[in-house]
Amino acid sequence: GSRFQVVEQGPPIEVFQKNKLFLEDTFQNKVNLTVGAYRDENGKPWVLPVVRKVEKQIAADDTLLHEYLPVLGMEQFSAASVSMLLGEDSPVIASGRAFGVQTLSGTGGLRVGAEFLNRHLKYNTFYYSQPTWENHHLVFVRSGFPNAREYRYWDAKTRAIDFDGLIEDLRSAPADSVVLLHACAHNPTGIDPTHDQWEKIADVMEERKLFPFFDSAYQGFASGDLDKDAWAVRYFIKRGFELVCAQSYAKNFGLYNERVGNLTVVTSDAALVPALKSQLTWVVRSIYSNPPAHGARVVATVLSDKALFDQWREHIKTMSSRVIQMREALRAELIKLGTPGSWEHIVKQIGLFSFTGLTARQVAHLIQEYHIYLLNSGRINICGLNPGNVQYVARAIHDAVTK
Ligand code: PLP
Repeated sequence: GSRFQVVEQGPPIEVFQKNKLFLEDTFQNKVNLTVGAYRDENGKPWVLPVVRKVEKQIAADDTLLHEYLPVLGMEQFSAASVSMLLGEDSPVIASGRAFGVQTLSGTGGLRVGAEFLNRHLKYNTFYYSQPTWENHHLVFVRSGFPNAREYRYWDAKTRAIDFDGLIEDLRSAPADSVVLLHACAHNPTGIDPTHDQWEKIADVMEERKLFPFFDSAYQGFASGDLDKDAWAVRYFIKRGFELVCAQSYAKNFGLYNERVGNLTVVTSDAALVPALKSQLTWVVRSIYSNPPAHGARVVATVLSDKALFDQWREHIKTMSSRVIQMREALRAELIKLGTPGSWEHIVKQIGLFSFTGLTARQVAHLIQEYHIYLLNSGRINICGLNPGNVQYVARAIHDAVTK
């Protein structure tokens, strides 16, 4: 017999499983609203033109080598990432209290940050929003956090944020709990706290001595404006919080499979930075030793060249406006059909996703009868919609809701 016999089949990852079912479906008008990736108005993946341009330059550059990067990654890349997140003129950059570590996309930043907080600050409890990105729980638990707790976030009845629930849950959190916060474009709900609400969240976190871990997977992609999408992180820093933030370039650069990310660390004491970096070095060393170079080269090149940077900013506007247009189109179609219920939340939510409020039964109906693939939670990737299929999707939703 095999020694591997003890291994049982694990459960599938819903989002990838649904994506596979979509790919295998032979129905002509099938629609994919599962994976959080951008699609253009023809339903096709989009390589940003500025990325193609820089990749061609890189390919033509015979001086570039495939030597190992340092364990903490490419200095120019992480510095540019910190500056994009905090703003170039951030006082914490000027005073040497912020630094970055290149990571394997957003997930890698979460993993390295969580292990570091658990191992070196001895933090054991983390709080995540209910609901949240489906991988948060697993990443933190596998990074060593024994206690996973939820804070309320989504009110299914009002299809809005359950702000009282959120505050109540944070108020009862033990000191030194890590609170995972979505910097913008909350996944899966698409609902962010208002500025007023962020201020109250900061009040409670300060009072209860909670540690903010921001997850910034959509900077620039959400509103089209890098500064606006970084408001919450910058506000917490202004309030004097120490924090970490995992950044991803998967969505805003369309570099999904290149695994380009950064972990920004902000401390109140610049003298601690060498020790923090040295311990982060050992965390990374034990997991993957050092990061890949290609995607970081692309991003660093774009972020540090004015003309390329401007071109990229146009791209994120293109992507975010298309998402906003499709939200409006879907709502308009549902209103036209007289679909029961309010569909305002579709245009109020921001980012890639809409938390539609469709039930598991309605989701099953959409998949079985219409070949429209979405998650059981009712989350849809708005980019899966385009002028060619939005009417079809709206009619299908209408049918599912009125059945
Ligand atoms: N965090 C959130 C909220 C996300 O939605 C995602 C991707 O969907 C990630 C992190 C991490 O993505 P990646 O590891 O591809 O950067």
